[in-house]
Amino acid sequence: MTNPLRSPKLRPWHLDRSAIVYVRQSTPQQVLEHQESTARQYALVDRAVALGWPHDCVTVIDNDLGLSGQSAEGRLGFQRLLAEVALDHVGLILGLEMSRLARSCKDWHQLLELCARFRTLLADADGVYDPTDYNDRLLLGLKGTMSEAELHILKERMYQGRLNKARRGELFGPPPIGYIALPSGEPTIDPDEQVQAVVRLIFDQFDRQGTVHGLLRYLVHHRIQIPVRPPYGPNRGRLEWRRPSRGTLLNLLHHPIYAGAYRHGYRPTDPRRQQPGRPGTGRRVRRAEECLVLIRDKLPAYISWERFQANQQRLADNRARHNAMGAPRAGAALLGGLLYCERCGRRMAVHYAGQKSASWYGCGRGAADYAEPLCQSLSGQVLDELVASQILAAVEPAALEASLAAVAEVERERAALLQHWQLRLERAVYESERAARQYQVCEPENRLVGRELERRWEEALKQQRQLEEEFRCWQQSAVARLTAADQEAIRTLASDLPAVWQADTTAPADRKRIARLLLERVTVMVDKDSDNVDVRLHWSGGLTSTHQLVRPVSRYDQQTNYPRLVQRLREMSAQRHSSSAIAAKLNAERFRPPKRTQQFTAAMVQRLTLRLGLSRRQPHGSREGLGRHEYRPTELARQLGVSRDLVRRWLRVGWLNVRRDEDGHHIIWADADELRRLRALHRLPRTWANKARLAELKKPKQRPTR
Ligand SMILES: [Zn+2]
Repeated sequence: MTNPLRSPKLRPWHLDRSAIVYVRQSTPQQVLEHQESTARQYALVDRAVALGWPHDCVTVIDNDLGLSGQSAEGRLGFQRLLAEVALDHVGLILGLEMSRLARSCKDWHQLLELCARFRTLLADADGVYDPTDYNDRLLLGLKGTMSEAELHILKERMYQGRLNKARRGELFGPPPIGYIALPSGEPTIDPDEQVQAVVRLIFDQFDRQGTVHGLLRYLVHHRIQIPVRPPYGPNRGRLEWRRPSRGTLLNLLHHPIYAGAYRHGYRPTDPRRQQPGRPGTGRRVRRAEECLVLIRDKLPAYISWERFQANQQRLADNRARHNAMGAPRAGAALLGGLLYCERCGRRMAVHYAGQKSASWYGCGRGAADYAEPLCQSLSGQVLDELVASQILAAVEPAALEASLAAVAEVERERAALLQHWQLRLERAVYESERAARQYQVCEPENRLVGRELERRWEEALKQQRQLEEEFRCWQQSAVARLTAADQEAIRTLASDLPAVWQADTTAPADRKRIARLLLERVTVMVDKDSDNVDVRLHWSGGLTSTHQLVRPVSRYDQQTNYPRLVQRLREMSAQRHSSSAIAAKLNAERFRPPKRTQQFTAAMVQRLTLRLGLSRRQPHGSREGLGRHEYRPTELARQLGVSRDLVRRWLRVGWLNVRRDEDGHHIIWADADELRRLRALHRLPRTWANKARLAELKKPKQRPTR
């Protein structure tokens, strides 16, 4: 008996194995809408039976319903199909069209190769193909190529359509915070006054705080919440108030819509960065100017384009990267981020050593990256003082005007916060009144609904009362209206800028902000062999000024006036002045020791004269300057037959009669009794039994007055 449907390609070894029907629709939507197609795919089972397979030898693989055929990735059904073929279980694969099997040539040819090796047939609505047959293989390869091309054309057409719409500025996503969507989808400013006020407040406060985190802290401190209308879910489009977060604020500040611009394509996918199995990965965020489409002045705006760009610049500067200035932080050094090395052009870093106030600037990039020696470094304090004095001199003329603006600014911020509170209160009152009305219109018999409405009314009232309480707290903590005396105080302060600059209440970050407003960059050139530093200030607006600085150095011979210092020391030593007298004279003559030390001391003079070979010390063993029964420590040690260290220890703990000569050297007085006492003290075993005796021996004898 011959079956008319039976193809001559069908052989017994095909019928020995099972037949597989592969069913797939691309998207869940297609699964719903193209039920006809799905039904036809399932009907292929009958075709397999007609071809001669027993019904229970036909397997349907439909795991991939709702999955795209772009790649075998994630398509468990297709992978199972491959596995079955490779296990030599399959005689025939049936699909409605070959394109359903694989849209990617790579997957398609892999399947063909396997089918050829395991002598599996393929069949679609048009016929049965044998991959081992040259002509069929050619045809199947062509079908695979066509299928991939079809997918490409489909996608391209859809993409071009969307892109054209976007180029006209008519393709919209969900509206961002502060906007609502018109029926056409076009975003427009939210008519809710409180929403608008919060968005404006965020931009104003970013101008003032200068950092996203500062802005966030401000919002949290003043309990300002962010108005959100969820684009999806049961509360779609309804206004909700959520706590502010860093991510939300960053999105808001980076979004060009607030400056009235339309953008499209700001998060393209980079296939190299995609991680398999995670469809959301590989996205890169583009800056506004780099978006696929950017149309300015297209939508209603909250801020000007210039302000938007200034915000972007500020956010970029705040980044802690080598090419950004970094946000002004709490450290004392004024020029962090602003200071450049004149020698190699790199930015110089701030270092804090020991105490918080002691800072130094170093150009160590080359040292870190290429193990070069440290390019140049400089103590922070002197440079900061120089730059601060220049800044104060520059702003002095505008001080009074600034003070008036400051008064206005304090008032304006207060007004903005007050408005925010009033709007919040107004909303709370409205909510509770609405709940009350809803409760009142409810029929009293309808207890099920009535109970719920009553609960909502109570909830609304509770929230209103809580808000009123918070408002009272805020009123007490917030800045009160400036009195005439306050305003006068601000004006007085303006006349004494250095005092304001140095005041403890002026935060280092504020000083840095002022410096950044006025200065674009500062470059320094340190002369390593002297204490000279060339400083160049690049003021905003293009002016530059150059200054000379005397830096603290680590060695005397780096000082410019070192030869003069040596000369003076030589003269004074020859005159046999004492060290302390020389130190006082040097200080009076405005000589300074190295290493950030302000004044010479006798000990410093002594060390320096010794090093220079100008010692005024008496030759060893000389008793010049010593009285009767007086010894220098070394001599006393020799006299007693003990070590010099022991004498020094006795000196430290005060067991000797001692005075200092004019150079600060110790001179010990010891008569025969004292020498006896010291010898006994040295010999006495330190035991508990000798405790009292030891205490007695520790006390030096009263020196008779001369
Ligand atoms: Zn350098």
